[in-house]
Amino acid sequence: MNTYQNQQIRIQNSLTGKKELFKPIVDGFVGMYVCGPTVYSNVHLGNVRTFMSFDMIYRYFLHLGYKVRYVRNITDAGHLTDDDSEDKISTKARLEKLEPMEIVQKYTVDFHEILRRYNFLAPSIEPTATGHIVEQIEAVQKIIDNGLAYIANGSVYFDVLKYNETNNYGILSKRVIEDAIENTRALDGQSDKKNPQDFALWKRAEPEHIQRWNSPWSEGFPGWHLECTVMSTKYLGDQFDIHGGGMDLKFPHHECEIAQAEACNHKAPVNYWMHTNMLNLNGKKMSKSTGNHLLPQEIYSGDNNILSKAFSPSVTRFFNMQAHYSSILDLSNDALLASEKGHKRLMDAIDSLKNIKIGETSSFNVDAWKQKCYDAMNDDFNTPILIANLFDAVKFINQIKDNKATITNDDFDLLKTSLNAFVFDVLGLMNEATADTNSDTLSGTIELLIKLRAEAKANKEYAISDQIRNELIALGVQLKDGREGTTFSLQ
Ligand code: AMP
Ligand code: ZN
Repeated sequence: MNTYQNQQIRIQNSLTGKKELFKPIVDGFVGMYVCGPTVYSNVHLGNVRTFMSFDMIYRYFLHLGYKVRYVRNITDAGHLTDDDSEDKISTKARLEKLEPMEIVQKYTVDFHEILRRYNFLAPSIEPTATGHIVEQIEAVQKIIDNGLAYIANGSVYFDVLKYNETNNYGILSKRVIEDAIENTRALDGQSDKKNPQDFALWKRAEPEHIQRWNSPWSEGFPGWHLECTVMSTKYLGDQFDIHGGGMDLKFPHHECEIAQAEACNHKAPVNYWMHTNMLNLNGKKMSKSTGNHLLPQEIYSGDNNILSKAFSPSVTRFFNMQAHYSSILDLSNDALLASEKGHKRLMDAIDSLKNIKIGETSSFNVDAWKQKCYDAMNDDFNTPILIANLFDAVKFINQIKDNKATITNDDFDLLKTSLNAFVFDVLGLMNEATADTNSDTLSGTIELLIKLRAEAKANKEYAISDQIRNELIALGVQLKDGREGTTFSLQ
């Protein structure tokens, strides 16, 4: 039995820029927070890539026997548009003449459906920003009381220069304050700020802004960065193990999260910051705002102008896992076709384990192979190396089939268990061919019973034909007799 006690994970920590041995705060437990989607539109495959990388990381911790509290939020308020003038959800609600909560519901349902199709494990907690307004107001008050925020015209801003006197704003993104200023455009409402790099903890709502709550400062809404500080520390503690998100969130979002948490609790909130790299399309980052994106449903339905065919969720998942989470990945038709081939070779080998011949000796060191798989995952979750190792096993299985290699019973058990664990539990792939074959087998069997029933009827053996129909109904198979013959449906 492999547990976290005998596998040591090293993680590339964006905070220190080093690959570090992972030591959780409490032995055997992992607290992990990942920034979730802003639910004002459908998630695209780039978003899915980031969430999938953390799903794989979550799966690996679980596989090693860690108890994991995995928190991934839903941003349903407070995320401002790129020009910082309005909230993304409120804007969409106003344009579509819908309640903001209708927008939130529609795209949360879409997000969950995509997660289900792509075989994601549910996080332990999925908190929403709107469900934590009280806690956010309390955090703003605490930062004001600690002298690191000021009120201006009903809004509350974080005083970055003041904070920087005793702390290091830029500790994560390695930006110096001057860079931060240069990167801040002349934004709406900026005139209220003492300094351009200050950021909003609470915004007074303009009359057209629909999502608004009472606060000591104004009727308004919380800043986006604040929700993650509040929800991560509420559920994981003032200091927790891992915080993740896409690289594009490092600045300002995660930098501001650190500043807010330090300003509230006087502690660095996170031990290991992990950032995933971007999925590109046509050489550019997949993005909602530029329209350069493919939706997951466009990929598995084949309904798009970019790819030559549909690609199943498991093939797309395999494609993602073939790259390290910290590398840029380019989506293309050729790359997906190659992944589809590799995925099939892997699944065919797993299927063929059913009929493997057991020998007297093994011509493959299964124990060493298994440890190589762990070594790959322990090295900052290196899924491409893991997959290369899985293909060493595929090659071996194919050699056994061709009578060019042998395996003992014990090694066979170990190979099968480990292969299943890495392919299905850790990478989260699905054997869609088996699922198809299962449904082919089922429909073939029902068709056979329909034929036997028709024969029984023709021979006036009504007791038999009725028995077939009734017993199929009891099993949830409904037969329908029509002019063209009998059809069936599953209930
Ligand atoms: P959003 O809903 O825009 O806040 O994005 C949700 C998550 O998807 C964030 O962690 C982003 O960093 C991530 N993300 C956005 N675009 C991409 C992309 N092209 N590739 C990978 N991750 C992305
Ligand atoms: Zn966040």
